[in-house]
Amino acid sequence: MEGKRSSKGRSEMIEEREVRLSVIIPLFNEEENIEPLYLRLKEVLEGLEIDYEMVIIDDGSTDGGFAILKRLHEADHLLKVVRLRRNFGQTAAFAAGFDHARGQIIVTMDADLQNDPGDIPLLLEKIEEGYDVVSGWRVKRRDPFLTRRLPSMVANFLISEVTGVRLHDYGCSLKAYRRQVVKNVRLYGELHRFIPAIASWMGISIAEVPVAHYPRRFGKSKYGLSRTIKVLLDLLTVRFLLSYSTRPIHIFGSLGLLVSSMGIILGLYLTGVKFLLHQDIGSRPLLLLAILLVVIGAQMITMGLLGELVVRTYHESVDKPIYVVRELLGEAGGGNR
Ligand code: UDP
Ligand code: MG
Repeated sequence: MEGKRSSKGRSEMIEEREVRLSVIIPLFNEEENIEPLYLRLKEVLEGLEIDYEMVIIDDGSTDGGFAILKRLHEADHLLKVVRLRRNFGQTAAFAAGFDHARGQIIVTMDADLQNDPGDIPLLLEKIEEGYDVVSGWRVKRRDPFLTRRLPSMVANFLISEVTGVRLHDYGCSLKAYRRQVVKNVRLYGELHRFIPAIASWMGISIAEVPVAHYPRRFGKSKYGLSRTIKVLLDLLTVRFLLSYSTRPIHIFGSLGLLVSSMGIILGLYLTGVKFLLHQDIGSRPLLLLAILLVVIGAQMITMGLLGELVVRTYHESVDKPIYVVRELLGEAGGGNR
């Protein structure tokens, strides 16, 4: 199972048999939550009367979680388990889930029961109405205010302003997507929360539905305040990927041309002063400014060219996997068959 690196290999594995719904749940050290989560989820999904699968990604748990998952999988083959080699982080775990999901509709959620599987039918209803992405909105969020809710209010505001995709709750894991949306987004860093924004280039319709949120009962949160900083830095990347990434030379090049032409005009003026008016210009601050502008302008233009190279390399290298699967229980997208 290891070393499945070619993208062709991956997509072959995935397209095998379709189901209507895949529920994707990444988890890391959530042993006490697994069983209650499974039971609740199963109950909801059975009530839906559609063709479904559950894909749980064990993101390198070091507790007894995998043994529980294995037991559940043996009793219920609709539960697929993808076990990653080490802890790659929630975003990579989501990406692993997307790669191994066969659903036409993909629902993501957390494993810690802070989300309620009972909200899944609400999300599906919106998808059936024709939306491509349906995002949960934790109207009454049960997390500490200072370390979690306040930073996330700021982050949601900034992300909405910067990306133009306005959502109240980017951080809510409970979301539903039409398959093409997630299959066309490459994830890394903390980028999973930006899927609606990144996917917006495809021209997607997004709906928000209020969902329930509960305090964590077992285990503890894997994140603190430091995530906010990462999220804000990622926002810069997303902004760049969304607009400038296709043509960096347009941004840097035009700035560079503007700056260096200002420098050249100043230089010409100083040349006139020197040769026509026969004045000394060596001691004038303006000369320094002229030189500085020309040099900076030239540097910006070269930076734009470098940007072009980087962007091209980026587009051609995005097939690189960001996780390695250790074990696969069930045919969550197949094996080497
Ligand atoms: N998680 C994961 N890998 C990690 C960290 C977290 O798969 O490296 C999972 C975790 O088990 C949970 C979800 O991501 O199912 C959300 O994590 P958590 O509840 O700690 O975040 P919070 O709800 O506090 O934002
Ligand atoms: Mg949580």
